[in-house]
Amino acid sequence: MSTEKTSQPRMRQPIVVVLGHVDHGKTSLLDKIRSTAVAAKEAGGITQHIGASIVPADVIEKIAEPLKKVIPVKLTIPGLLFIDTPGHELFSNLRRRGGSVADFAILVVDVTKGFQNQTYESLELLKARKVPFLVAANKIDRIPGWEPRTDTPFIESYRLQSEQARRALEEAIYGKIVLSLSEQGFSADLFTRVKDFARTVAVVPVSAKTGEGIADLLAVLAGLTQQYLKKRLQYAEGPAKGSVLEVKEIPGLGTVVDAIIYDGVLRVGDVIVLNGKSGPIISVVRSLLMPAPLSDMRAKGVKFVNVDEVHAAAGVRIAAAGLEEALAGSSLIAAKDEKEAKELTEALKGEVKELIFRRDQLGVVVKADTLGTLEAMLEALKKYEVPVRLADVGNVSKSDVVEASFSGRKDKSLGAVLAFNVKVLPEAELEASSLGVKIFQDNIIYHLLDQYLEWRQKLKEEELEARLNQLIRPGKFMIIPGYVFRRSDPAIVGVEVLGGVIRPGYPLITAKGREIGKILAIRDNDKSLDIARTGAKVAVSIEGKIMIGRHVDEGETVYTDVPFDHATRLLNEFRSYISDDEVLTLKEIAELKKKLGLKEYALILNRLGVTQG
Ligand code: GDP
Repeated sequence: MSTEKTSQPRMRQPIVVVLGHVDHGKTSLLDKIRSTAVAAKEAGGITQHIGASIVPADVIEKIAEPLKKVIPVKLTIPGLLFIDTPGHELFSNLRRRGGSVADFAILVVDVTKGFQNQTYESLELLKARKVPFLVAANKIDRIPGWEPRTDTPFIESYRLQSEQARRALEEAIYGKIVLSLSEQGFSADLFTRVKDFARTVAVVPVSAKTGEGIADLLAVLAGLTQQYLKKRLQYAEGPAKGSVLEVKEIPGLGTVVDAIIYDGVLRVGDVIVLNGKSGPIISVVRSLLMPAPLSDMRAKGVKFVNVDEVHAAAGVRIAAAGLEEALAGSSLIAAKDEKEAKELTEALKGEVKELIFRRDQLGVVVKADTLGTLEAMLEALKKYEVPVRLADVGNVSKSDVVEASFSGRKDKSLGAVLAFNVKVLPEAELEASSLGVKIFQDNIIYHLLDQYLEWRQKLKEEELEARLNQLIRPGKFMIIPGYVFRRSDPAIVGVEVLGGVIRPGYPLITAKGREIGKILAIRDNDKSLDIARTGAKVAVSIEGKIMIGRHVDEGETVYTDVPFDHATRLLNEFRSYISDDEVLTLKEIAELKKKLGLKEYALILNRLGVTQG
């Protein structure tokens, strides 16, 4: 009857991930959070899970105690679950329909360096998966003049700093972090000044080295998640839902999966459904393993204990038959019975359909180690408008190379295999070199992408250059007086290039409009040149109707004879590729041609903005 009795729905721990640029302190920050929690041991320390650590609510309250006046924290969540491995790749495996298993993220930024490549990439991932986040502005102990105060809350330490140190910190935070975030469309502020946390990204200054700011970080994390994620964190007692982080081969146990459970309860004997390499797998949980309490995770040979059940949120190792084919990054769902399990496999098939495919279109081949990294690769390729013909999980095989070569024959830049954290089988390697397929391999998603994009760019430039090379480009030179080595058949003269470029094969015309044959060769001392540009002094041999002294004289200017359609193509297709100096030379040539009565060259002059008199 009484409203008292309608018990509040239970809340689970928010799942928190740490992302950011390499060396900005992600690992150190996670270590510091754990060690700070362990040090508060009379309150219960931390609970070690598989792939994750839980800092319980009472520990957070105790650590945040000195901040009580500033940040009143009355926790309704049971604690915070931190994913132990930071970075993009693991985050990718925390997949959940339309989003992420991660409820919240800490974006670590070295306050002395600001945003770097992987900071932006992390931000992209968070946007794509719609994961709310705060920024930990790390390494504040490196701010000039900063007096470190070990394990002190930031608010307190800040108050005790010199005016100069405080100013330096503010400059770094606003000049580097807040500015970069605003360029990316986020409003952000120092957490003490944020009025509306739903609209403003909180920046919490910390030092993973001295422990300053850890209390503030935990208080803000707990406060934000329990206030804004209430609905998401409501905990149902129903069948478990989770995500496969890793698939491992354990001696004595066989193949197990390490999973993060974000909803419900998982029990020994439960029927589970997850995706495998050749379709969904239905199995029964044989045992559930957790790290033994008090075991030091960093020591070798961690001990595990069997448990009967785990409640979300949890990281757990699952042993079951038939997991050899399991895919990391797959959903893992418990079913009431075999019948429901069958129905669930349909949903799971849908999950992989967009990720594992072969399409009848031209595109690159993508191979990755997990569903999550495959998805991250596909998303990144989409952003750069790279079409994909085949996407799959597993090592690069000969047939992958054959698929890529099919695209490569039509478009060279698509004759590529992008292999993320997988092996290239020897026969695939052989096939690639015989079919001219390029294989890119890396274990950092964005490095792999960069390598491919760079290669594609180079190919494009080469192709452009090859097309450009088919055209006669504008050039002019002067026959240097006293440098006539041979007067005809062929004529050989020393010249100075005055504008544009000259190449063997180009037809020539004098400033008076007389055609004098073609460039046979260009030499610089003993070297024969393929091209000579403005300023070059070279020897040129000319074949054709030419006799130096009769058709053209020493000291005269000679132009390349650019046909009208070449001139048009140069301006239409290659304007951004040719130099201004070349364009100026083209103008002179067009003027000359027009004077000779070739009226169409007026169009070229128009294009070059010359008003006709
Ligand atoms: P990750 O690559 O982002 O995981 O970075 P790490 O945690 O490995 O840290 C990179 C380096 O920065 C290591 O040498 C750390 O000792 C150092 N480092 C991390 N946090 C801090 C900090 O708050 N202050 C200082 N001075 N050094 C730090």
